[in-house]
Amino acid sequence: MKLSERDYKRLQGCDSRLVKIIEYAAEKTLQPFIVNEGKRTIETQTAYYAQGRKSLEEVNRLRKIAGLSPISEAVNKKIVTKTMNSKHIKGIAADLYPITAGKIDSGKTALSMVADAMKAGAKFYNVSIDGGFNWGWDYYHYELKL
Ligand SMILES: [Zn+2]
Repeated sequence: MKLSERDYKRLQGCDSRLVKIIEYAAEKTLQPFIVNEGKRTIETQTAYYAQGRKSLEEVNRLRKIAGLSPISEAVNKKIVTKTMNSKHIKGIAADLYPITAGKIDSGKTALSMVADAMKAGAKFYNVSIDGGFNWGWDYYHYELKL
């Protein structure tokens, strides 16, 4: 597969090594995927970090500042990030969603196919990567290990 214009847009501001690895993975893998998120602003990270920790009102206030749409009370029960020091802010992380039949595929096979392609790309460019495939959670997430 090839990355779409939207994928490239979402990779804007990301480290070129990360972009190259993702391009390599896209070219080699039989599992289609999309780039859900690359570089993240401090405002967005602040809103994400507040989710599940602060009141819905406060979370949606922060989301508005970050240019994000509001979330529901149910969604605000879920913590989505463990850190304010996300690699996304530095532009060295991206979240890749496997897509099967037009839908996000969070199955083990789809995730490991993307992970294998990313690892192959990292090896090809001689760059170390880390992410959900090593952590056992946040399986969509990949980051450069610098
Ligand atoms: Zn991520």
